[in-house]
Amino acid sequence: MNQAWKSKLASSFFALFAVALLLVSGSESLARVGGGQSYGGGGGSGHGGGGGAIIYLIIQLARFLIYLTIEYPIVGIPLDIIVIGGVVYYFTRRNRTIESEIVSVVPAGPAAGTAAVDTERAFNHLRRFDPNFSEIIFTDFCYALYGKAHEARGRGAQALDLFSPYLSESARTALVKRNPPGLREVRGIIVGAMQVTDLQGLDSPLVRARILFETNYTELAGSNSQPSKEMTYYVREYWDFERKRDLLSPPPAQATALHCPRCGAPLQKDTVGACAFCLTKIDSGEFQWYVRDITLMSREERGPLLTSDVAEAGTDFPSVIQPGFVTVRAAFEQNHPEFSWSQFQARARLIFDELQAAWSSLNWERARPHETDNIFQMHQYWIDAYRRQGLRNALDQCKITAMQPVKIQEDAFYNAVTLRSWAEGFDYTVDAGGRVVSGSQNNLRRWGEYWTFIRNRGTKAGPARADLNCPNCAAPLKINAAGVCEFCGGKITSGDFDWVLSKIEQDESYAG
Ligand SMILES: [Zn+2]
Ligand SMILES: [Zn+2]
Repeated sequence: MNQAWKSKLASSFFALFAVALLLVSGSESLARVGGGQSYGGGGGSGHGGGGGAIIYLIIQLARFLIYLTIEYPIVGIPLDIIVIGGVVYYFTRRNRTIESEIVSVVPAGPAAGTAAVDTERAFNHLRRFDPNFSEIIFTDFCYALYGKAHEARGRGAQALDLFSPYLSESARTALVKRNPPGLREVRGIIVGAMQVTDLQGLDSPLVRARILFETNYTELAGSNSQPSKEMTYYVREYWDFERKRDLLSPPPAQATALHCPRCGAPLQKDTVGACAFCLTKIDSGEFQWYVRDITLMSREERGPLLTSDVAEAGTDFPSVIQPGFVTVRAAFEQNHPEFSWSQFQARARLIFDELQAAWSSLNWERARPHETDNIFQMHQYWIDAYRRQGLRNALDQCKITAMQPVKIQEDAFYNAVTLRSWAEGFDYTVDAGGRVVSGSQNNLRRWGEYWTFIRNRGTKAGPARADLNCPNCAAPLKINAAGVCEFCGGKITSGDFDWVLSKIEQDESYAG
């Protein structure tokens, strides 16, 4: 075998091994900024590979296992056992709904979501009935509702009832059932990943969407006689949403799950459980997305595994480019004469650098001005997981080596531009004593990712900023936890003033 073939074989071995690990463990854990994890897609990562790609990978994996078993049985046979065991476990588990706590659960993460649909195509279809539909706003809404519902159950069933225009009785019951005796508060609710795993009913009056949440929260329980006790859980749960297909989505400000879905007044209920303003009692998706059911899949105290080495997959795959991109790009440039690719890419680089620095130092606040609320939360989930385990994922000498625009989208409220970026650096994880527990300080790692930036369409046309000043008032960036500039009060992280990062997807899972 010549050298090139050997290295190709080695890289495909690692790619397939990574796929095997994903199928088996579902939680790849080598982390870099929003990166290597299976959660890397972040808000609305539901573009996840279609069934075809997964079947192709499975066939390739099987072929490779046979080859390994014959040629290198020492590697092949143990791998066979792991894969077969994993597949059997996955399929036996899949058919059960697990309500109780699972000890040492091996969840199938989003990357293994065999039921993943081509969400984007489905959303485009929905847009024919609802021109206001925006995936960005839908994702914001789901994050908001998830956080508010859990926070409310911490204050008791009555507090949760306020959200009855969004949560069916069975959904609320499912949430309250989780409350331990003496629950005082649910806090630190962080969504690590949200994925649309199924979207149905586009040819009927009622659309149904199944969402998988992977989250982390802390329950504080206790009574007067007992000291309070804190329990932190990592949770996976399905939420089944439904909505009348032929509705017009509300603008971003109304999509926070804090308003009556019918009249838009603040959530406030009269004694019979109807909206205090329009007197409507809502118990379906007649006006807005409505959660029919909630199914807890797993709940465990153990955080994600953060110390395994997983090789990069897909770095050398050809870019997935939007169909008709040349035309789309020309139209976009014509409609936005102020837009400059070089300024945009300079901003992307600045954001990349700031994120790497923030990540490596576990000082995630530094990344706050550059990310939408959802992806910031998703990254915070990982930072917290590292902290809890006394670990730090370092990224040294990271730099972008190339960037390529691959997609431009406009919906009723936002512009979105996706860049594929290639980067390299030293990526390793150290424990509290500074010992390297995974990755390497010596071997340069190369990877590629698809980064999607958004900007509000109402933004006053101006060039993208590539410095650390407020894009609204130009004062030095200083923002609070809500993403608001301390000088001008503008919410920077909404994309109202300049491009902000809204999504990171991996080479091997990006489907366009
Ligand atoms: Zn109302
Ligand atoms: Zn400002």
